[in-house]
Amino acid sequence: MAKNTPDTLSAATRLVTAGRRAEWTGTPAEPGAVVNPPVWRASTHLYPDSAALKAGKANEDGHFYYGRRGAPTQWALADALTTLEPGAAGTMLYPSGVAAVAGALLSVLRPGDTLLMTDNAYEPSRLMGRGLLKDFGIETRWFDPMDPAAFAAAIDGRCKAVLLESPGSLTLEVQDVPALAAAARAKGLAVVLDNTWAGPLGFPALERGADISVMSLTKHVGGHSDLMLGSASAGAAYYAKLRRTAQALGQVISPDDAALALRGLRSMGVRLRQETANALALAEWFAGRPEVARVLCPMLPGSPGHAIWQRDFTGGCGLFSVVFKGKDGSARDAFIDALGLFGIGFSWGGFESLVTPIDPAKLRSATGWPLPGMDAADLFGVRLSIGLEGLDDLKADLAGGLAAWNAA
Ligand SMILES: *Cc1c(COP(=O)(O)O)cnc(C)c1O
Repeated sequence: MAKNTPDTLSAATRLVTAGRRAEWTGTPAEPGAVVNPPVWRASTHLYPDSAALKAGKANEDGHFYYGRRGAPTQWALADALTTLEPGAAGTMLYPSGVAAVAGALLSVLRPGDTLLMTDNAYEPSRLMGRGLLKDFGIETRWFDPMDPAAFAAAIDGRCKAVLLESPGSLTLEVQDVPALAAAARAKGLAVVLDNTWAGPLGFPALERGADISVMSLTKHVGGHSDLMLGSASAGAAYYAKLRRTAQALGQVISPDDAALALRGLRSMGVRLRQETANALALAEWFAGRPEVARVLCPMLPGSPGHAIWQRDFTGGCGLFSVVFKGKDGSARDAFIDALGLFGIGFSWGGFESLVTPIDPAKLRSATGWPLPGMDAADLFGVRLSIGLEGLDDLKADLAGGLAAWNAA
């Protein structure tokens, strides 16, 4: 299916035009009559006659067939995400980011295979390795995200795929994706990358060596904390596998959610730029505070993998973590509860700031917590998702949190 937006245009322009095909935003008499593809609510698709019904079975994107294959609202979102991912032949949509991770892994693994998974993977991805995949006879082994040599040495004949996530969840180490992907591909492994943190604007995953780029659209693409969706984009060979698996599992998303995601997508570039600027300013501010042992923020010099972020990434986002110097969980609770502008809750990437406690120790097996070079007493941290509020207001709020931490 031809894209409506050439790859030669800048990402900013593609964000605005991608997926807005004239045939999806108008009628045959007046193509392109409205800006956005309308919400096509449809389970049944109709055929003009028996001959058309028989001819309508080709499994190609962008054709009416039956509701499970979507209609123009979903096609427009998939098409836009494909347009934003250099090297992608297509994108599958899923009802959540976790469903997208599962869909990608199940498309490249079979019973008896081994999956290698980065040790700082998102918790539900980790649980998939220990649960669902194990139940289907797939073994998962975890590796140190910062040690490409150990990763290469861990590959044996049963390894068929690797799940990377860069930066990783909670601790945000930036991995050397090109090196890890090259080692994996040399042995025939499929390289699946959870690219939720940077997205295609910050990290062109397929160009950097991934075979399948997975995103939770719940985060930056939605951007308004009002929807749950996931995506997986791939080049031609892996896209066919992704699509076969997603169709077999009956994955489909609502056209309302697709329309909301398209709305969020149009402003993703400016939101990410603003969040990144706010987050970097706050990360620098935290780094100078006596209460703070470590700031884990890919954009900040000294954070694990910062040099790789500088080399490979073209953008950041508002998500980073802060580890307190000593004290305990109740001091951390005091910090969190003193904040007025930060909602307490899971997820991230919305327009509003959020905070959650992090306890990486229980989520690691190939590496430890605290990270190398950190003091063993510095165990308690928080993850901050910085939104679009005024920087000075956020700083004042966080200073109040640190005062409560000191008083605890
Ligand atoms: C949130 C998240 C997911 C899962 O996305 P949902 O849409 O919440 O299912 C996957 N990977 C990462 C890195 C995430 O932060």
